[in-house]
Amino acid sequence: MNLNELTIREAHDGLKAKKFSSEELTNACLRRISERNPTLNAFIEVTSDIALAQAKKVDKEGVKGMLSGIPIGIKDIFCVKGMKTTGASKILDGFSSPYDATVVGKLRSAGAVFLGRTNMDEFACGASTEHSCYGVTKNPKDSERVPGGSSGGSAAAVADNMCLAAIGTDTGGSIRQPASFCGCYGLKPTYGRVSRYGVLAMASSWDTIGPFARSAEDIAIMLEVMAGCDSRDSTTPDVAVPDYAGALHQDIKGLKIGIPKEYFGEGVEEETKNIVMQAIKGLEKKGAILKEVSLPMTKYAIAVYYISMPAELSANLARYDGVRFGLNIDDKGDDLNEYYEKVRGSGFGDEIKRRIMIGTYVLSAGYYDAYYKKAQKVRTLIIKDFGKVFDEVDVLCAPVSPFPAFKLGENLDDPLKMYMADALTIPASAAGLPALSVPCGVSAAGLPIGLQVIGRQFEEGRVLGVGF
Ligand code: GLN
Repeated sequence: MNLNELTIREAHDGLKAKKFSSEELTNACLRRISERNPTLNAFIEVTSDIALAQAKKVDKEGVKGMLSGIPIGIKDIFCVKGMKTTGASKILDGFSSPYDATVVGKLRSAGAVFLGRTNMDEFACGASTEHSCYGVTKNPKDSERVPGGSSGGSAAAVADNMCLAAIGTDTGGSIRQPASFCGCYGLKPTYGRVSRYGVLAMASSWDTIGPFARSAEDIAIMLEVMAGCDSRDSTTPDVAVPDYAGALHQDIKGLKIGIPKEYFGEGVEEETKNIVMQAIKGLEKKGAILKEVSLPMTKYAIAVYYISMPAELSANLARYDGVRFGLNIDDKGDDLNEYYEKVRGSGFGDEIKRRIMIGTYVLSAGYYDAYYKKAQKVRTLIIKDFGKVFDEVDVLCAPVSPFPAFKLGENLDDPLKMYMADALTIPASAAGLPALSVPCGVSAAGLPIGLQVIGRQFEEGRVLGVGF
């Protein structure tokens, strides 16, 4: 087995026992990247020098924690000192951050090795990684298909053994859906579990940060380092970070698993339903108790998201005006407004422009109550739906996506169809709940299918236990 194919746990054990060095492990990943990245375009920048320097440091100083000397990929949405950060957008071309995002700083202190920046949809807006100024990423299982999005680069890199783990963001599905399309594990933690400080904001009341890995245990190891209260992000509460990896071996006998019938309804492909159901039946065999439940507000989730998210996105992206942040172009125009138009017109891609227009529209005087405020109210109903079922069951199990990876270009002309890819991930995002994507089978065409495990707020431990 090649070193780059190891899980974090296996690599850690090997490093500790001095079977190989972090430098050798890092070089194995770099070799895999140079072989495969020209086809997949999962990494948009490979920082070999940084990675090898970090690896050598660990080799010299000795392995400490679980992530010491472990090579990872970082979505191009995190500020990393000494690296560029662009959100895969032309508007941030050449930007490099003077500081680390909190989560990046934690991974750095834990001794993780930074292999480079992974591709994504521009400002995390998309479900296919086709909206990137660096070109599309391809699915490692079938290069004619998308890897999912927006963290498609991170998912593809982990699934294709270019790195042992990666980090991404999930606002409406961007960790879970690409993890399920590529066939790796991906966790969207509880809203506020991981600090958003130093992460390019998409929709602030929805944005979460989480890991990709090749096992539930590795997700637990990553989360333990990433999670926690941060004085720089007031949405991170002072909730203790448990020993996630230590709690994995819990017995699921008697665990009550809810099966939301809306997640197995219209629009969800038969094959996906069957494969996910088989996995759930496997849990039943281990002693879990299955119960059908109903989340009737599910059908409004996409509508709520595509009002609330663009509203917040348009406000967050207002800072990219070419003065404080964003492109500095020579043609300044005749006045400041014209300059803004030129900067934003040339810096943002089409999907971002579409969302900024929707967002400013739903927030404008006269429409605010009809759209934005109404969406907020319906979001509360979605939250209440979950509250009710979590009185009866411990976790929910369902598909991650209604269908497996689609063909490159297939949904590009039809944004509404593209938005359907997140029909089953957005509800947990609306309610700020932790949700894990677990590879649970492959379709007849050989495409990975993901099982989604959703838990109560801050019950990542239980979710990971079911995934494990
Ligand atoms: N695919 C969804 C969108 O396009 C979700 C994106 C995300 O979670 N960042 O907005």
